Amino acid sequence: MRLDVITIFPEYLGPLRESLLGKARSRGIIDIGIHDLRDWTSDVHKSVDDSPYGGGPGMVMKPTVWGPALDAVCPDDALLVFPTPAGEPFTQHTAERWSREPRIVFACGRYEGIDQRVIDDARGRARVEEVSLGDYILIGGEVAVLVMVEAVARLLPGVLGNQQSHREDSFSDGLLEGPSYTRPASWRGLDVPPILMSGDHARVASWKRQQSLRLTAQRRPELLASAELSAADQQFLDT
Ligand code: SAM
Repeated sequence: MRLDVITIFPEYLGPLRESLLGKARSRGIIDIGIHDLRDWTSDVHKSVDDSPYGGGPGMVMKPTVWGPALDAVCPDDALLVFPTPAGEPFTQHTAERWSREPRIVFACGRYEGIDQRVIDDARGRARVEEVSLGDYILIGGEVAVLVMVEAVARLLPGVLGNQQSHREDSFSDGLLEGPSYTRPASWRGLDVPPILMSGDHARVASWKRQQSLRLTAQRRPELLASAELSAADQQFLDT
């Protein structure tokens, strides 16, 4: 998979070189290009923003800089992502869908965002998605891109040591994952639930499922509506 990020703060994407993502890059599983938007400016100050038409606070990123940058970095067959609080919510389902894309380009906004015509123009030639990380406002798109790239990259074969782990994570089956424990069996007077040490795999799986259902019902009940629930799941929830 090839990922490209256009930003005015290339150093902000430094964490993509670290840890499992760094290893995935060195193993050739993902190839990441970070591009400085200011390379496409034409004035001596390398300015990327201007005051908004219609007034209002803040500055808007200029189409005359973003246009040539996207022309150079984003091929027509790529998926082009604009992180924005006004976008569709980014979810595990989005990450799974994107993990099957061969090429994704991310355009990081700053200030009040990017001139709308940049997005409208790009829609004319590429597949564009405007995506939000959540109902809050970040300073720029870079942190959103770090989150999205990490969520996508860990789904690629060979990135995680144990491929099974992401299949059991929260949201993979539409539910939250229940609690995890490791040694010692007793710590500060708190014991690991005995069933986890029983060696009875079927009962352990059933207990884990129930923990998952209970937690989801408590914290994110709306997820239950779209999760695949068996008759036994439904019975557990009804009791
Ligand atoms: N004026 C914009 C609004 O109210 O929708 C907010 C602009 S925000 C200060 C600057 C940039 O940060 C955005 O262009 C976007 O790239 C990024 N950003 C901020 N919050 C975000 C969120 N919740 N999800 C994704 N990107 C976000």
